[in-house]
Amino acid sequence: MEKIDCAVIGAGVIGLAVARRLAAQGREVLMLEAEAAFGTGISARNSEVIHAGIYYPTGSLKASLCVAGRRMLYDYCAGRGIGHRRCGKLIVATGDGQREQLAGIAAKARANGVEDLQFLARDEARALEPALECTAALLSPWTGIVDSHGLMLALLGDAERHGAVLALRSPVQGGEVVADGIVLDVGEPANLMRLQAATVVNCAGLGAQGVARALRGLPPETVPPLHYAKGNYYALAGSAPFSRLIYPVPVKAGLGVHLTLDLGGQARFGPDVEWIERIDYTVAAERAAAFYAEVRRYWPQLPDGALLPAYAGIRPKPHAPDAAACDFLLSGSAEHGIRGLVCLYGIESPGLTASLALADHVAGMLAAEH
Ligand SMILES: Cc1cc2nc3c(=O)[nH]c(=O)nc-3n(C[C@H](O)[C@H](O)[C@H](O)COP(=O)(O)OP(=O)(O)OC[C@H]3O[C@@H](n4cnc5c(N)ncnc54)[C@H](O)[C@@H]3O)c2cc1C
Repeated sequence: MEKIDCAVIGAGVIGLAVARRLAAQGREVLMLEAEAAFGTGISARNSEVIHAGIYYPTGSLKASLCVAGRRMLYDYCAGRGIGHRRCGKLIVATGDGQREQLAGIAAKARANGVEDLQFLARDEARALEPALECTAALLSPWTGIVDSHGLMLALLGDAERHGAVLALRSPVQGGEVVADGIVLDVGEPANLMRLQAATVVNCAGLGAQGVARALRGLPPETVPPLHYAKGNYYALAGSAPFSRLIYPVPVKAGLGVHLTLDLGGQARFGPDVEWIERIDYTVAAERAAAFYAEVRRYWPQLPDGALLPAYAGIRPKPHAPDAAACDFLLSGSAEHGIRGLVCLYGIESPGLTASLALADHVAGMLAAEH
């Protein structure tokens, strides 16, 4: 059986960032990716927004790693020539009571360390974005957009420069905890390869719970449930009259149907929240009706027929639809008692923004074991 130092399971943005971080420390790293290419999971199906860190409960990992990760990400993108733009975003109040909600959002954001937020009266917001309808808005100048594939390509390049190796078509089917590491069964069931790693970081996204449950010796009660909260997107036919991202005040389990722009200026709306039982990325045309209603609260001139079904992503939620939102769940030896194993669960938004800081955090958890 082959023995290696570190195995990182999953080559999405989180696995790639963790692999880069551990390889830069001089560790031998093998990335095990089930699919035929890196970055085809959640990391390929999101809004590509660099979040400022506004909404998350103060003191949570989501809050601290988003703010730290966002600063690291802007520096990294600038240094590595990764496409990004600090376009800013407006969170808009459109109905009764929402101005007060904006004040609450601003207070939480400041407590999280988010810089330079500005409260705007209706006319000030409309001077920035004339097509916008609102009663007030909060301007977040540190929100931006990033080319997520370019980011992953740069992370992979760094990891490989430090000697990490990416093994594609290498699904982890299971394994067991042994005295001096973790044995992984890798490959198709008919043709399994066994390898032993001293350190394993489970960054399998929607597969993280499945991988963890298939590891003999890992206490099953430390593996949280997994619920799928699909987010559907609709693209705008034609050009958008906005140059900033536009968000309504948040809704339960999501940030509300917002307008984001890609680096080419193309606008899309979403994601909504649709709880589903199995992975399914089709975007139903009939959901568009609810989008028109939501978007017209802040953009009344949205033309009929302008929304085209685009794509969907799936949030890996550890909590059920009616339960309170969870933080990122990072399960290390303090939680499950196994040295050298870190499992990442519930890495939904702002995981892309937080990726570099999350990787540092995982490296810190592993270093603390020694
Ligand atoms: C709708 C939506 C919108 C979002 N918008 C934003 C945003 O605007 N900004 C932001 O910061 N964050 C956003 N996020 C969150 C962000 O996209 C995720 O946090 C991040 O992409 C998660 O990356 P990951 O590497 O954990 O998962 P993934 O990208 O899914 O990577 C996991 C990898 O593991 C592989 N894998 C699975 N099982 C196995 C196995 N058994 N063996 C080997 N490999 C396996 C998969 O093939 C996959 O490649 C959004 C998420 C969603 C769903």
